[in-house]
Amino acid sequence: MKALLIRYGELALKGQNRPFFEDTLVRNIKKRLSDFDSVTVKKEQGRIFVENLSEQYFDEAIERLKRVFGIVGITICEVAEKNLEEIKQVAEVVTKNELEKGKKTFKVETKRADKKFELKSPEVSKLIGAHILKKFAGVYGLCVDVHNPDFILNIEIREKVYVYSSEEKGIGGMPLGTGGRAHLLLSGGIDSPVAGFMIAKRGVEIEAIHFYSFPYTGEKAKEKVIDLCKVLAKYTDKIKLYIVPFTEIQLSIYENCDERYLTIIMRRFMMRIAQKIAMQNGGLALITGESIGQVASQTMESLFCTQAAVSMPVFRPLIGMDKEEIIKLAKRIGTYDISILPYEDCCTVFVPKHPKTRPKLEEVLAEESKLKAEELIEKAVTNTEWMVIRDR
Ligand code: ATP
Ligand code: MG
Repeated sequence: MKALLIRYGELALKGQNRPFFEDTLVRNIKKRLSDFDSVTVKKEQGRIFVENLSEQYFDEAIERLKRVFGIVGITICEVAEKNLEEIKQVAEVVTKNELEKGKKTFKVETKRADKKFELKSPEVSKLIGAHILKKFAGVYGLCVDVHNPDFILNIEIREKVYVYSSEEKGIGGMPLGTGGRAHLLLSGGIDSPVAGFMIAKRGVEIEAIHFYSFPYTGEKAKEKVIDLCKVLAKYTDKIKLYIVPFTEIQLSIYENCDERYLTIIMRRFMMRIAQKIAMQNGGLALITGESIGQVASQTMESLFCTQAAVSMPVFRPLIGMDKEEIIKLAKRIGTYDISILPYEDCCTVFVPKHPKTRPKLEEVLAEESKLKAEELIEKAVTNTEWMVIRDR
């Protein structure tokens, strides 16, 4: 019988909270595999096992598990009863599989979680190693290399015995739902989806907020943001997206304020609205895709003015990253190809020709005082629509 063995790392460090983290991870895994009938997910001493899954679904299941935060490694393992003969048999199966991939050297590593098992770990390794050599050394030229083996034959003795070799890397991070909720300001650009991903990876539930300037930005821009949410939902199962009508605010700023402050005032409005939505919906922080110096609205002075608009913590996980690094990550998580589609973003419509790169907060506030800010914000929040975007 085969099963999937899941390793998780950082969680193991969490002391008294450990069961909470583990149970959340188990629940998330169950949810991700819920459409496979009869599958069971159980935790056992620092491991999670997926059992009763038909082998034809292994690849699909592994693909999905590679997007579950908190998982460090996933491997297909052979399951045996706790007797030496059976262990030998499944060890042969695992070894054969590696030999067929051209591997030539190996070593055996045994973990005995069940201390009642009559043989100690080194004895099991020795016995099984000798058996495997006898079986395969002649035909395949297999030999032992304890320092730098092509593959490790792992044997874990628990309630049952699990034997496996190579492992697929998991995505890491913390199980989703262990870190509270935060609200992501999601544009159609490259940066903000990556920022959202990074915070979600720390176990935080993300809700997205998009500012929409109809008719200056059209249906296509909205679809683009929905498509980005679909990619994020591959990691989070689902994501709630708020669409905030932003045209009136932009026009009002455009008509009343010094042109050089357009962008910074607009950014401050975004923050204030986002904070309001977050507070109404259990959010504890805002997330943006800002990175120091990337554009005029992301100089230190501009960030100071943007930050001053809200009292909530603002997470900017990309703050110290170069564009190249951000793009690399966007490609890896799968948002890049959507982000580069050329649809207008509300920020690109009302771009001042000469934006202030070093705005002073007093000057920004003076310009802003020409607006009926509270009223505009209230109206935008009231007219905000939302939808839930699901992975499946
Ligand atoms: P991005 O690639 O995320 O759009 P950017 O480099 O284009 O970022 P800006 O346009 O200055 O930078 O936006 C900075 C941040 O403000 C974005 O990362 C995003 O978090 C937020 N933001 C900008 N425009 C919008 C929008 N229309 N809706 C929601 N959030 C936005
Ligand atoms: Mg942008």
